[in-house]
Amino acid sequence: MAHLKSQILRVLSAFFAIEASSSQISNLKFVILWSPRRAERLSACIFEYYCKRMETKLIKDIQTEKGDKVFQVRLLKQEGVGLLTTHNEDNYLILDSLDYWYDLIQTTYPSKKKCTCKNEWFTVQYIYTRRAETEDIRSVVVVITCTACGKSSQVLSIDVDYSPTTHLVEAPIVFCGKPKIKYKFSELTCYWQSEDLKDFLQFMFNKLPVKVYCWFFKLPEKKRYFELVSYENAVEIITVNHRYLDFYFSLEELDVEKYLNKNVNADEGVYLKLDIWRKNEFIRLSSPSHILGYGLLYYVNFCNQYLDKEVVKDKSPDFNKLTAMMIEWMKSRYTSKRGKNSFDGIQAYEELIEAKAKRG
Ligand SMILES: [Zn+2]
Repeated sequence: MAHLKSQILRVLSAFFAIEASSSQISNLKFVILWSPRRAERLSACIFEYYCKRMETKLIKDIQTEKGDKVFQVRLLKQEGVGLLTTHNEDNYLILDSLDYWYDLIQTTYPSKKKCTCKNEWFTVQYIYTRRAETEDIRSVVVVITCTACGKSSQVLSIDVDYSPTTHLVEAPIVFCGKPKIKYKFSELTCYWQSEDLKDFLQFMFNKLPVKVYCWFFKLPEKKRYFELVSYENAVEIITVNHRYLDFYFSLEELDVEKYLNKNVNADEGVYLKLDIWRKNEFIRLSSPSHILGYGLLYYVNFCNQYLDKEVVKDKSPDFNKLTAMMIEWMKSRYTSKRGKNSFDGIQAYEELIEAKAKRG
């Protein structure tokens, strides 16, 4: 009976992972909470349904080439990446996310996953879903099972938007010799009002030898563009049409095509490849995030080093000089009272402090 129960629970958790809509999940949770018998009958139905659907799925138990099957697990859930560590401290990345992993851990190194029973060792299973009538993988769900209490949980769900995908099945984990490499990376956070933003753009356009590109959303066409812009264009984009996505500042004129993600539906205009400022010599200014009650928060990102196959390399001296000049100016124009790498407008900072004091 206990075996059957754990099998049902395993099926249910896999089912939740792939098939159920949110309303189905809350209905099921309701039934499970209030009527365990009905829950068992229901899970038997789901088991049958799930078996029927199995032909489009592939389940794989994860093990290393050395035969290790038990891992400590670190995850960046939102970003869909993770690291598995064996008893011998060999590290493996989930799927083919090596570059992305290094980019992400520059700001946060994920902590070890712990089961509710406090154990930190797990077996790992991938559930692949294929696209209808093809061999291509549409999504991968990662399920981990505690080696002490047997509790399973779905910890990652990764959508795959490219083809071919055979390597995801053939090499589900990728050895990573040094999971903790750091390179010189800067993320500046800025609470700005509109004048602060305008001043920043004015400085970048007029005082630095840069070409300025903007990725923006144009109305009424509802299309995305990535173009070289003048200061006048930029002001128009940030004031009239406030739906820009990013500004990029580069010493060189760009071959724009090189930075576009061609896998995305062209009806909506162009999409950029992920984090193009990391490997290239760009400074990126994000569009503002509206932090409720506190104001508009902008991010300025750049790095003075980059990774080339696990080797840290320097960017050019000219780019270093450029970023240093920008920081120097930002120090003179904004306040860093909020903390390291913060460059807030004076008024925006005062209003932020006031809002925080009011909230206690
Ligand atoms: Zn456990």
